[in-house]
Order: sequence, then C-alpha cells, then structure tokens
Amino acid sequence: MAKKGEHRVTLGLVCSVCKNRNYVTTRNKINTEEKLFLKKYCKHCRKVTDHKEVEKLK
Ligand SMILES: [Zn+2]
Repeated sequence: MAKKGEHRVTLGLVCSVCKNRNYVTTRNKINTEEKLFLKKYCKHCRKVTDHKEVEKLK
C-alpha cells in the first residue's frame, strides 16, 4: 500500500525579478506534471511578479 503523500514534493516559488524565494508550496507530481508558474506578490519588489517553482533546498 502506497503511503499517503509519497508523491507530494515540496517546492519553493521564486520571484523571476529579484530571485528571492517568497513562497513554499507542495505539488503532487503525479496529478500535476507541468511546472507551476504564478503571479504572486513579492515583498522584495513590492509588487506582483511572476513566480516560478524551484526544488526546495534542504
Ligand atoms: Zn521580487
């Protein structure tokens, strides 16, 4: 029996402008194959910018 949460990966969302990692999220890589790309508020840029996912650093 597969353990719940086995395919859920933890990701960071980085601002494409200042490269700061502003958010941490999770994604089920079985259900969602494409990379996340979101418009979110960046507190460093003080505006909404494009954020893309990166592997969370350990
Ligand atoms: Zn930013």
